[in-house]
Amino acid sequence: MTQALSLAGRTALVTGGARGIGKAIAETLAARGAKVAIADLRIDLAEETAKEVTNNFGVETISLEVDVADTASVKAMAKETIKAFGQVDILVNNAGITRDGLVMRMKEKDWDMVLDINLKGAFNCAQALSRPMMKARYGRIINITSVSGVVGQAGQANYSSSKAGLIGLTKALAKEFGSRNITVNAIAPGFIETVLTENLPEEIKEFSLKLTPLGKFGTPKDVANAVAFLAAEESSFITGVVLNVDGGMVM
Ligand code: NAP
Repeated sequence: MTQALSLAGRTALVTGGARGIGKAIAETLAARGAKVAIADLRIDLAEETAKEVTNNFGVETISLEVDVADTASVKAMAKETIKAFGQVDILVNNAGITRDGLVMRMKEKDWDMVLDINLKGAFNCAQALSRPMMKARYGRIINITSVSGVVGQAGQANYSSSKAGLIGLTKALAKEFGSRNITVNAIAPGFIETVLTENLPEEIKEFSLKLTPLGKFGTPKDVANAVAFLAAEESSFITGVVLNVDGGMVM
């Protein structure tokens, strides 16, 4: 009998996979048997993570330098991954940034940068990898959005817009790719303890905790477990959903 939620024989690519939630996703997919490509802006960190994942889980990994906002860079990443693995079955669009500020003071470059990385980046990767997925008649695309994209967040007009856009992209792609056996889903994490959140003011952390019925912050592993489910065979009839991993913050 095959192990539940096994990813043996599958190949995955995780953007922003060098650290934080992306690293936990890479580790969790590897623990279930997938070969993993770790793509990140910082190749030194991506290489380190890839080595760690191979050592800990005994699967083949590769590391790739990519700026997801740059179409040519994404095309090169896709080409290199297909060359190494032959196929990418699972794409996790995880790379994302924040540049918070009130709209009145938000600089145009901070709006553009967040939209370019968080939304256009996911489009670039989906576009580059969907053709081979279509040919293979198999694919899993998982977009890491945020509760900020579901309910909006003051001081995050750029981030909330990018993450709401990512939900729209998820649903459009789910409809476009469904007939080719490619599922496209989104995960909306609540407050997860990573570098992205560690420098937030204490009052924002306390406020987030009050809004979370489970009374605790999430971990990167909580998000990674949900990704592993949506990447597995067991989720084959689920597409176009937004799965909140937020301790009940948004319901
Ligand atoms: P993180 O620790 O900052 O990790 C993000 C990773 O993405 C970093 O390795 C970063 O590289 C990389 N990256 C940034 N820009 C990139 C680009 N243009 N091309 C390729 N890689 C790029 O953040 P995280 O907390 O793990 O967040 C991961 C995802 O979860 C993001 O999409 C975020 O919006 C989402 N999320 C997080 C939370 C949370 O509470 N932490 C909540 C909801 C949603 P560098 O090291 O060079 O910056």
